Parts: sequence; structure tokens; C-alpha cells
Amino acid sequence: MPQDLKSLTLDELTRELTALAQPPYRSRQLYQWMHQRLAVSYDAMPNIPNSLKALLQENFTYTSLHQELMQESRIDGTRKYLFSLADDNCIESVWLKYRHGNSVCVSSQVGCRMGCRFCASTLDGLNRNLLAGEMLDQIYAITRQTGERVSNVVIMGSGEPLDNYDNVVRFIRMLSDEHGLHISQRNITLSTCGLAPEIRRLAGEKLQITLALSLHAPTDEKRRRLMPVAYRYSLEEVLDACEYYFEKTGRRLTFEYSLVRGVNDNKKEAMELIRLLKSHGCQGCHVNLIPVNPIEERDYQGTEPLKVKAFQNLLDQNGINATIRREMGRDIDGACGQLRRRQLRENAEMSATATKSADR
Ligand code: SAH
Repeated sequence: MPQDLKSLTLDELTRELTALAQPPYRSRQLYQWMHQRLAVSYDAMPNIPNSLKALLQENFTYTSLHQELMQESRIDGTRKYLFSLADDNCIESVWLKYRHGNSVCVSSQVGCRMGCRFCASTLDGLNRNLLAGEMLDQIYAITRQTGERVSNVVIMGSGEPLDNYDNVVRFIRMLSDEHGLHISQRNITLSTCGLAPEIRRLAGEKLQITLALSLHAPTDEKRRRLMPVAYRYSLEEVLDACEYYFEKTGRRLTFEYSLVRGVNDNKKEAMELIRLLKSHGCQGCHVNLIPVNPIEERDYQGTEPLKVKAFQNLLDQNGINATIRREMGRDIDGACGQLRRRQLRENAEMSATATKSADR
């Protein structure tokens, strides 16, 4: 399989071009075309000689996502994109407009194999990992389409980023590289369902990103009901790894807590959560509360607003900072993997109809 040119770091690109007998300035030019000027193809690079373009075409692939669909929320301006990849797989990305700047939520895998019960991304399992270039291009394509700079990136779309460790770390380094979009690592958040060994490994990468842990329950027993990964790593193991991450990087963690009606949203769970976080030295940490976004395939419901507020108040009164997240883009299949699933289903229905009419 040829390598993807967009997934190479500047150093790697320079080595590859040297091997093709090119002068060093060429790699800087090419890198700039790809990662700063966001060129969709070699055609958009007038100062690169045709002979080199031909060589590159022979030796590498050039990732360029194709926009299949874009939906804009009438409520909050959130845009949800469905992109197709070179192998026709589809992924989703979200563009969120906040007062402090624009955020993009990127997918890290096609599908996911973690099996969280309330999540649409995992219903068909994992198809494949995304390359660094395919993660970068989600941001590049959206920047081109909106004409606005992206200042924050959250790796919270479909997929488990730490299950695609090498490509994700490469993506973060390239995204924050001064020769690329140069997005500050402090403005990049990686959310994980809690792969403890990879959290420890990530602590050694010397990154300044924010790590978010999807907690969703205060006890192993309850967490296992929502997240099968909790059978593999206990809360004790995951929170120890988080403490280690904080010690090594000095970066405070964020905890994600999706509130599922009647499952993890009672006073009892709030008190258990407070106890758990305090016993792991997480007082200064932040909890993000979000009522679960119901997906068709499961009958989980989000917690009622008043009860969400009560849950937040309990945490606050006990010294745990908690924010209620607005559910952005609720009218446009906002939750992970919902749009992609709808599209897959519509495609399947369309080909079924086509087969039927061909049969007639
Ligand atoms: N695999 C990573 C990142 C992807 S999901 C992780 O587990 O953290 C980003 C966040 O959205 C996670 O906290 C995930 O649990 C949550 N999530 C997924 N589906 C949801 C839904 N339907 N409603 C609310 N939160 C959801």
C-alpha cells in the first residue's frame, strides 16, 4: 500500500523527497500547500513542477475527503458533515460555533469497537482506523467550507482515539506543528472511554492537550452496564492512570458524565461520584454533564432538565466543578455516529429498492 502524503510529518516528507532527489525547500513548499493552504489536490499547487507531481502520484496517495452531506442546525448554527474517504467509507465531523471561537469535533475511527450502550458509533463495530491525514483533513475541509479559522479541536467524534494510538498522537503533533495549522495543544481535547495502559503511555508523550475521561457512572457495577470497557479496566485502574497523567503533564483532567434517565442520574450516584473523585485527588477537576442524546436503537432517555440541575448543584456544593453541556445540534443527528448510520441505512434502502426494480 502506498503511503499517504498528508500523514507524513515535515521531517518524514523531507526524507521521502530527498530519496526522490528533490531539494529540501520542496518539502517545505509541499507541506505548506497541504497543511497551511489546505490544497485539495496537486492541481492547486502552481509552484510544484509537473514532473514532481507525477512522481508523487506514482508513489503516494493524497487524502482528500469528499463532502457527502452537510446539515446546519437552525437552533445553534452547529454544522454536521458527512465525508467519504478514498475507500468509500463515511465518517462524520461537527463544526461548533462558540463565542470564544470555532471548534471541530473529529472522528478517529470508522465505527468503534468499545460497545458503549448509548452510543450510535459502535452499533456496527469497528471498520478501520483513520490515518493522521484523514483526521487532519476533516478540519481542513471544514475550514475551506466555512472560510473561518478553527481554534479548538475535540477528538470526540466516532471512534476510540486511544484504540488508534499512533495515528492519533501523530495527528495531534501535526495539528499543533508551527508548519501546519499551529493549533495550540491546550486547545485540543482527547476523550477516551478509559483504556488505562494507553492513558499511561500518553502521559509520556509530553503533550499539553486536555484529557477527558468518559466516566458516566460512579461504580464499576453501574459503569459495566453502560460501558463494556469497564469489565477490562476497573474505575480504580482508570483513575490511577488519570492521576498519573496529571502528575506527569500537570494538566487537569475533565470527566464526561452523560446522564441517563433512571440509570445514573439519582442523588445516590451524585454522592458516589463526589466520593470517588475526592478519593482520587480530583477536587480541581471538571465534570461535564450532558443528558444522554437518545438513539433510535436503544431505549435510553436523557435526564429531565430540573434533575440535571439538581445533580450539578450537588456536585458544586461538594466542591466539584460541574458544567451542564448544551446539547448542540440536536435537530441534526448531533450525537456521535447518528448521521452516518442514517446515511448507511438510506443507502441500503436505496440499493434494496434498486435491486427490487431490477428484479421486476
Ligand atoms: N471514544 C471516546 C470519544 C468518543 S464519544 C470516548 O468514549 O470518550 C465522545 C463522548 O460522547 C463520550 O463521552 C461518549 O460517551 C459520549 N456519547 C456518545 N454517545 C452519546 C449519546 N448518545 N449521548 C450522550 N453522550 C454520548
